[in-house]
Amino acid sequence: MSHQHLEQLAAPTPGSDLAKALLASVQERGIFINGEYSPASNGQTLDTCDPATGQVLARIANASEADIDRAVAAARAALNGPWATMTPLERSALLIRIAEKIEAHIDELSELEILDQGKAWAVARWAEIPAAANQFRYFAGQAMTIEGRTITTSVNYQPEGKQVQAWTVREPVGVVAAITPWNSPLVLTAMKLAPALAAGCTVVLKPAELTSLSALRLCELMHEAGLPTGVLNVITGDGRTAGAQLAAHTGVDKVAFTGSTATGRAVVAASQSNLKCITLELGGKSPAIVLPDADLELAIPGVANGIFFNGGQVCVANSRAYIHRSVFDQVIEGIVAYGSGLKLGHGLDQSTEMGPLVSKGQADRVMSFIEGARRDGASVLCGGEQTGPNGTFIQPTVITGTRGDMPVHCEEVFGPVLVAEPYDDIEEAINWANDSEYGLAGSLWTQDLSSAQRLSRQIKAGTIWINTHSMFDASLPIGGMKQSGYGRESGQVAMDNYLEWKTICAVV
Ligand code: NAD
Repeated sequence: MSHQHLEQLAAPTPGSDLAKALLASVQERGIFINGEYSPASNGQTLDTCDPATGQVLARIANASEADIDRAVAAARAALNGPWATMTPLERSALLIRIAEKIEAHIDELSELEILDQGKAWAVARWAEIPAAANQFRYFAGQAMTIEGRTITTSVNYQPEGKQVQAWTVREPVGVVAAITPWNSPLVLTAMKLAPALAAGCTVVLKPAELTSLSALRLCELMHEAGLPTGVLNVITGDGRTAGAQLAAHTGVDKVAFTGSTATGRAVVAASQSNLKCITLELGGKSPAIVLPDADLELAIPGVANGIFFNGGQVCVANSRAYIHRSVFDQVIEGIVAYGSGLKLGHGLDQSTEMGPLVSKGQADRVMSFIEGARRDGASVLCGGEQTGPNGTFIQPTVITGTRGDMPVHCEEVFGPVLVAEPYDDIEEAINWANDSEYGLAGSLWTQDLSSAQRLSRQIKAGTIWINTHSMFDASLPIGGMKQSGYGRESGQVAMDNYLEWKTICAVV
């Protein structure tokens, strides 16, 4: 085990001068509406902490209802400003400049994300921040592909000598409320902003209260890149007040929400105020199925990484593994060795492989699942302890001997906790995989591609990976079936989230 140095974590204010400067100034800047910073109108703030140490990094504004009204009004007005007349080519060029800004500030954005969320350096610097830039690059292309259709109708009652012509055009949905969670703040924000702006919408962004810093910095960079005033407004604050008010606001045309299934339900209820459109990217309990012929050199690190990456705080994490009995011991031994060998620490130490969870509350919640599994008679094969100076680190944990109805087996834990069980025949494994209220993702590990192809159609989930897990790209649609939500982000289809169809039918 290489977790011993955690106790030596002091409470420094680490980070570059730029990141420190942002931390120092974020309080004065507050929320961002119509191109200007202001404090919350009620003067309220919320602490945002470094989860590794518990140290307060900054105080962010806790927006009031009046602030939300102002932000929505700014976004509405901007729909009719210079933004409305920008050509697709101009919007595309702007999105490219935003991608370049992110790339030019990649170290600083990585540091902010590490300090605020607890990520390991490599996760932020080499995976998530580059992926955020790629979202803007990809949707820069999509901005230039918006097309309607001409339609040949069967209408035959037009006046003598006239004909009916009909066509469709695509128009921006309007004002978008983008509400994001704390696990991968910047990339999940980019997954909403890039297609919304490519489509010509305007946005009020509400980042998660635990991790708002990178969104505030991104907003600045986007304006430096030339985003017109009012097109993006950022409201920080508590989800149950600011988030709920934004989701219910009748001036909002669409909510693009990523977060837990419970909050997703509240967003659906709030949308009834004006029947706004919504897309929901919610929770998951994704299975990995390891077949007897799997290439174990790929499968062992692949399944381990699929649950331990970002401390398991990944919506698509493979938190369940169903492994053929003939290879179960070997695979489990490998995953246990992988997890036990991970170096836990502060993400700014570049040798750290797994950081803390986002908060003490989240670590306590994950720990309660592990304790519940122990009480229910399951076996904890590695990890299973809460540690670190702030109690926010959870050791990579592998549990077996569970039943399908145990909370650790059927609920979203959102931590580095794998439930692994042996199966005898593949139908049994597929049934277990589908025995979930969630349907976000899954993976199949086998060298037999024709069975993989067949089985991939039998699992009810938005994404199935074969011989990999959590492989993302801006071109690949991602989203859930069942209670993992509806709608897709990334890929061409994501443009549909932000565009209406309008039919025009003329007698000419
Ligand atoms: P959360 O649901 O608690 O919060 C998400 C966002 O909603 C935050 O900004 C929060 O302030 C806001 N919010 C809270 N209450 C609200 C309300 N009543 N109305 C409107 N907004 C409200 O989720 P979280 O704990 O921040 O994130 C973890 C969850 O996100 C996990 O369940 C995870 O699976 C999910 N997630 C899903 C995906 C996906 O693509 N499917 C991706 C990442 C995370």
